[in-house]
Amino acid sequence: MTDNILKLVRNNIKNLTPYQSARRIGGQNGNILLNANESPKSIFFKSKKKSFNRYPECQPNNLISSYAHYVNLSYDQILVTRGADEGIELLIKAFCEPGKDAIIYCPPTYDMYRISAKIAGVEIKEIPTIKNTWQLDLLNIELNLSKVKLVYVCNPNNPTGNLFLKKDLISLLNITLGRSLVVIDEAYIEFSPKESMKNYLKEYPNLVILRTLSKAFALAGIRCGFTLANKEIVKTLNKVISPYPISIPVSDIAVQSLELDYIELMKNRVLDSNNNRTWLMNQLKNITCVERVFESNTNYILVKFFMFKKVFQTLWDKGIILRYQNEKINLNKCIRISIGTRLESSRLVKELKKFSKKNMFQGAISEK
Ligand code: PMP
Repeated sequence: MTDNILKLVRNNIKNLTPYQSARRIGGQNGNILLNANESPKSIFFKSKKKSFNRYPECQPNNLISSYAHYVNLSYDQILVTRGADEGIELLIKAFCEPGKDAIIYCPPTYDMYRISAKIAGVEIKEIPTIKNTWQLDLLNIELNLSKVKLVYVCNPNNPTGNLFLKKDLISLLNITLGRSLVVIDEAYIEFSPKESMKNYLKEYPNLVILRTLSKAFALAGIRCGFTLANKEIVKTLNKVISPYPISIPVSDIAVQSLELDYIELMKNRVLDSNNNRTWLMNQLKNITCVERVFESNTNYILVKFFMFKKVFQTLWDKGIILRYQNEKINLNKCIRISIGTRLESSRLVKELKKFSKKNMFQGAISEK
């Protein structure tokens, strides 16, 4: 019976491995969750709205105005979505013909570009970033642009934490002008705000920017993101979005989070996270089981470990949950660590030192 029903599933879904989100992988029983790049501290809001018998606006007016004000763009350049993830998907829905068009993405990077394209039956062209520098391989991108409607670039990149050179992003916009859209995912941009490409929107009609309240704004639980683009693109995306994507409590809380006082709080949270990151990086550099700590411009760091499997499992067993990256291209033996509170980072450092003392001795530091 079930077999017959499963035969009905589209082929690309039958073979699909879904996105391995932190919550899907597990570890929720851990007491130090450093695996989803969330804010380690919460802020508290009260919903001002009390009645919910009416549908919300598809694009809540005051929320769009608040975000337009925050990013200093016009109202018609903004789309609000269920997290940045929905923006990734809507772009594919609106611009890519299944079985005909393609997207480019540049791993190692965020997996949802690939997975959303796969779900939609859209070809995926993988152009890895250049090994060692992790910058864009512009030459190969240019050579592979046929059929490509969307080029996804995550800046700063997840999970590597690096920024792309602004001159390369501008070259990419020039190379693709009139052919493809360049989608720059700025989910973590509040941690390096000067690097945003939003001021290029007026110059490049093919630029699209994704944003979220899930990271620096500490609101991953409400699921609210934004797509910034020229007004024709926003209009097009508004054709494919579901009728009522943003619930009333979500827009109510999101609007509050964009008030000036809360933006100040967000900026302080970013400073705090950036300081904690520097502290943690310095600590890690002196721990024996750590092979390399990569520079980061975000609220997480990528770390290469000796005995990475054992490190990951030992910490997991102690309730410190990190994110494995070893399976990704060029990230052999790497683990991503979200920046938690100073207390959480101290616990992590303490456990890694204990691990090193117990497991590491000179000459025996290789792991298959
Ligand atoms: N882009 C990147 C690079 C991310 O890391 C994430 C979340 N992990 C998202 C987009 C999705 O964010 P949201 O919570 O807004 O859907």
